[in-house]
Amino acid sequence: MTTVPDVATFDPEIYRADFPILSTVLHGRVPLAYLDNAATTQRPRQVIDALVNTYEKHYANVHRGIHWLSDQSTDLYEEARENVRDFLGAETREEIIFTRGTTESINLIARSWGDWQVREGDEILLTEMEHHSNIVPWQQLSQRTGCRIRFLPITDEGEIELSALDTLLTERTKMVSLTAVSNVLGTVNPVEEITRRAHAAGALVTVDAAQAVPHQTVPLREWDADFVVFSGHKMLGPSGIGVLYGRAELLDAMPPFMGGGSMIQRVTLEGYEPADLPAKFEAGTPSIVPAIGLGTAINYLRNIGLEAIQAHEQRLTQRAHEVLAEVGGVQLLGPAQEKKAGIVSFVMDGIHAHDVAQILDRHGIAVRAGHHCAMPLHKRLRVSASTRASFYLYNTLEEVERIGEALHDLKHIFRRE
Ligand code: PLP
Repeated sequence: MTTVPDVATFDPEIYRADFPILSTVLHGRVPLAYLDNAATTQRPRQVIDALVNTYEKHYANVHRGIHWLSDQSTDLYEEARENVRDFLGAETREEIIFTRGTTESINLIARSWGDWQVREGDEILLTEMEHHSNIVPWQQLSQRTGCRIRFLPITDEGEIELSALDTLLTERTKMVSLTAVSNVLGTVNPVEEITRRAHAAGALVTVDAAQAVPHQTVPLREWDADFVVFSGHKMLGPSGIGVLYGRAELLDAMPPFMGGGSMIQRVTLEGYEPADLPAKFEAGTPSIVPAIGLGTAINYLRNIGLEAIQAHEQRLTQRAHEVLAEVGGVQLLGPAQEKKAGIVSFVMDGIHAHDVAQILDRHGIAVRAGHHCAMPLHKRLRVSASTRASFYLYNTLEEVERIGEALHDLKHIFRRE
């Protein structure tokens, strides 16, 4: 749960100037209101400049060259890793593996740790509110091993039913994998408590932090999870870069995920010897420049301060709840505002989510409509689709007001008022 400190001093206009795309005017008249940040965020000039600067001045392959330029690019790539380590509060650089994103990170765990440790009859415990990328890799593991996937149920308000842990967490449970923040409901989950109970039952814990790391200071120590995963593009960084944090002794014991260059100590015609961490899990040429861009995005976020960003998003969420209540005929998904992050999903009586998004788009407002890669969650909530507005540091209260105006227009078009 998050508290709302005084945000009077937080002025998103100061930061908006850093984001070239936010000055876009749509349909020749309406300014873009970008409210699809849970899908992906925009990049500030500082990150774009870092990418261009690297390509123009420092680019070569990493870890291979015995030449000056390769040293430069290797240094920048490893500086980015150190930046991620420090940002997360991880102990060593060996615990930070660069991947392409959250999806790849979870697939890495399910393949490497899963194929190694999970057998028929074992259980993987997920929740009903997971993104498909925290469901399908485990289902594939189940197909390979015969393990069983179980789900912690959620309440109608969109919170995990913690009492279900009493029966669902058993000595057969090998992994509990859950999202820290739901990408649909915005629910902030009690990761700490679930980790404590999972560990007591002998299970490991993976935290899908795709919607958490960009918006809050991650309490890595308190969470005490075995793996934490997230994506750079949801936190002002480039796409094609993500992170897998894992406990060093665990990563060390796990077999490599993909094979190829860079992940080996030596190769003979008979076999190979894997490299040490983190290289063991970074086969092939990595996303060099996106990793450097992620480091710059982290610096940008740190300069502003995640607490201030989080408080600002809380304010926007609170106002969005009020605006939607004023519009009427709107079903809000997820818990009360104090229990959620800056994600507001809703269903309008008798109007399909795609129609809602289309009318909002006419008003220059970019939102997401559909199942948001969470089909089982929508089934559980008995809705086929929803519309989602999701906020970040550059969004304004005025943009939230515009949602209300556009929805009144929508109701008028559909003769609901
Ligand atoms: N998990 C959650 C909670 C998400 O919101 C997303 C993306 O929306 C993902 C996983 C997948 O992230 P990516 O597509 O960057 O791999």
